[in-house]
Amino acid sequence: MNILVVGTVAFDAIETPFGKTDKIVGGAATYICLSSSFFTNKINLISVVGEDFPDSAIQMLKNKSVNTKGLQIKKGEKTFFWSGKYHDNMNTRDTLDTQLNVLENFNPIVPKEFKESEFLMLGNLMPSVQKKVLSQMTKKPKLIVLDTMNFWMDLFMDDLKEALKQVDVLTINDEEARQLSGEYSLVKAAKKILKMGPKNLVIKKGEHGALLFNNKEVFFAPALPLEEVFDPTGAGDSFAGGFIGYLAKTNDISFNNMKKAVIYGSTIASFCVEKFGTKKLNETTQKEVETRVNEFVQLVKFDTTL
Ligand code: AMP
Repeated sequence: MNILVVGTVAFDAIETPFGKTDKIVGGAATYICLSSSFFTNKINLISVVGEDFPDSAIQMLKNKSVNTKGLQIKKGEKTFFWSGKYHDNMNTRDTLDTQLNVLENFNPIVPKEFKESEFLMLGNLMPSVQKKVLSQMTKKPKLIVLDTMNFWMDLFMDDLKEALKQVDVLTINDEEARQLSGEYSLVKAAKKILKMGPKNLVIKKGEHGALLFNNKEVFFAPALPLEEVFDPTGAGDSFAGGFIGYLAKTNDISFNNMKKAVIYGSTIASFCVEKFGTKKLNETTQKEVETRVNEFVQLVKFDTTL
């Protein structure tokens, strides 16, 4: 099954306790595409960059079979830029700078051949753009997953709530779930958020794993305990890319299969954080993914007979 991915393609500058980078290639859609590519070679991208964005980075996506026909390159403009700093507790970060640049007037155009995509991943970017993509689909996708963040909740909560009405799975982190719902308890927050439209909700809790909710069931998966966490940037997007990639590959959107997708999403995210930026995702092999999924299974397996 093919996946249509919308989101930022960006330059990031990152500081963690282990080091600092100047502008490197990042962006929600970049991480999602790289992560989904472990599961399918039918990935179509919709995004925008400026003239300053390197061809080599676009080639990196093409090398992973990403169709970049929907990637607009704006002459004389600058690529979206984000800068963040992680402290000793790498579960939280401070955004130091967000420069929208090309994103400010971004009008997404969905090419004709992408309009009937089966799986739609609305990655993190302004909710009005996510809505514009939704409105161009000529056939309702089998599954619509939306990811967002506090930045857009602060600025465009009403637009976001409109988009949420059409969504099958919302993926956000615990702080964002609290902000969206106004509830501290994540169980209460999930109940409120599910009433806003999404049929399923994933709450990502960084090194403490992820929760999957629908109206009847809850599933929890821990994060794999890792020796080395260098840079958590892109972990949420890698989770989303792995999650939707697995669902698209198996073409099964049942809650039971979503549980497996959570494990695959967490696995891909565990690779992402081991090096700065997109480096580790680029190096990781299919075989390494399968080995790590098996480690996951061993981690949570226990005998219930007392
Ligand atoms: P994550 O760590 O998964 O939340 O995603 C990090 C990526 O999100 C970085 O590569 C950034 O370029 C991108 N990003 C940061 N802020 C925003 C924003 N407001 N909208 C869209 N993408 C963003």
